[in-house]
Amino acid sequence: MLRNHEATGPGAGIGMRAILAITLVAVVAIGGSICIGCGGESIEINTEEVTGVSTIDKVVHTEEEWKSILPADRYEILREKGTEPPFTGEYEDFSEDGVYVCYACGLPLFDSGTKFHSGSGWPSFWQPITPEAVEEHTDNSGGMERVEVTCARCGGHLGHVFTDGPEPTGLRYCINSASLEFVPR
Ligand code: FE
Repeated sequence: MLRNHEATGPGAGIGMRAILAITLVAVVAIGGSICIGCGGESIEINTEEVTGVSTIDKVVHTEEEWKSILPADRYEILREKGTEPPFTGEYEDFSEDGVYVCYACGLPLFDSGTKFHSGSGWPSFWQPITPEAVEEHTDNSGGMERVEVTCARCGGHLGHVFTDGPEPTGLRYCINSASLEFVPR
């Protein structure tokens, strides 16, 4: 799935790797199995289960390693907190049924059932696939007060979350298409 990751298996130049096990309450019901972090410290989430507990190892690479793993445009967004121009991402006007995983590490992040058309120019979701899938950080860059959203597994920059979203959460996760990879259901 993440072909760029396949060249970096265990012992194949991963460099410093932190094994920080976190517990993920997997609320995924996406049919079949998804390989997380394909090629590396991969695990399988049993997606037949609506709820379950899986252990996920965090993925840590040096920036030089990330540069070799990710295409340059995705590296700029995922690792340097860039933003793709509005209305240009492949998932902005996209409504297929499935799951969006982190492009960098394969962690399931958002379900298409929570995607909505915000008109912002970026893919928008009203909640992550599980609360544990993403992390939030205060972001005061650019003279704005925002909340940055990153992948909980690899730390990759995803976008920001705002409080002007629809019910039931009132949240709008404004996410770069370049940070995501869609997996059909
Ligand atoms: Fe990730």
